Amino acid sequence: MQVPAPFTYERAHDVDGAVGLLERHGPEARLIAGGHSLLPMMKLRLARPETLVDINDLHDLDYIRLDGGEIALGALTRHAGGLGSGLLAEHYPIFAEAERVIADPLVRNRGTVGGSLCQADPAEDLSAVFAALHGRAVIRSSSGSRSVDMREFHVGPYETAVGPGEMLVELRVPVRTRSGSAYEKVERRAGDWAVAAAGAFVQLDDGVVAGVGIGMSAVGARHFTCPPAEEILAGQEPTAERIAAAARTCAEHCEPTADQRGPVDYKRHLTGVLVRRALSRAVAAAQGGVA
Ligand SMILES: Cc1cc2nc3c(=O)[nH]c(=O)nc-3n(C[C@H](O)[C@H](O)[C@H](O)COP(=O)(O)OP(=O)(O)OC[C@H]3O[C@@H](n4cnc5c(N)ncnc54)[C@H](O)[C@@H]3O)c2cc1C
Repeated sequence: MQVPAPFTYERAHDVDGAVGLLERHGPEARLIAGGHSLLPMMKLRLARPETLVDINDLHDLDYIRLDGGEIALGALTRHAGGLGSGLLAEHYPIFAEAERVIADPLVRNRGTVGGSLCQADPAEDLSAVFAALHGRAVIRSSSGSRSVDMREFHVGPYETAVGPGEMLVELRVPVRTRSGSAYEKVERRAGDWAVAAAGAFVQLDDGVVAGVGIGMSAVGARHFTCPPAEEILAGQEPTAERIAAAARTCAEHCEPTADQRGPVDYKRHLTGVLVRRALSRAVAAAQGGVA
């Protein structure tokens, strides 16, 4: 049986308490939220935190609400909460489409949005969603809050902008009218990590693309996105030809690795197909007047 290395356990009761415990215990302390990523890594001794700071009592961080023209999600929102949110479904169907294909109900009931993003697995789905939506992350420490563009949140595989003594507390996404969004993922079997995945957001103004975001997962896309592909569509009519050109650009710019889920050429091709499908559906939804 695999067991973790010894560690000290602390339980935080509010955000100040959590960041205070992180500061007191130093860089070898780790927060634990749903535990679905951290505990398996500890059992395999891939992670050996000296202290675990449990944040499951921070119920104040479990919310999805409208706030000043933005949708705000608390870091402790469970995947199931994101999947069931009427507010997200109304404004950004991409969320439910991504959440529906993340793992299984057991993981979704316990795993958190914040834990997923902070784990920063290169095949994690919500990173692509937040990249497509141009979201922001709010990070707290004992010296206050700072806001980080989600396109700068991931600094590498399993590495984020959250530093020692800091905690991700909230994700924010602007509400936009006349927009559409969609998520496409290919997995080997239900509940598996992506072979490749793509999300898209499009906002139209008088038939022209006023806002666009493309997110990709599992294919080595820098910051889970591809700005040169977005530039093909920005300020233009979203014709089938431009969508196809943007999808081709994504396929060219991503850097997948060969593994048990498939060879590089297959993943590159799949990326192009999924980006094209996601963009086409996002455009159709925006044309249909989906807010
Ligand atoms: C069988 C299985 C299949 C899965 N399939 C998928 C999939 O298809 N797609 C997908 O995207 N994910 C998948 N996952 C991952 C799943 O989404 C996990 O819930 C998620 O990776 C971690 O969330 P958690 O709350 O359990 O985080 P934890 O395991 O508690 O923490 C993960 C990391 O984040 C840190 N952390 C947690 N919260 C914070 C915070 N607020 N601030 C700073 N650091 C924090 C922890 O210290 C730790 O380093 C799968 C997981 C399993 C077990």
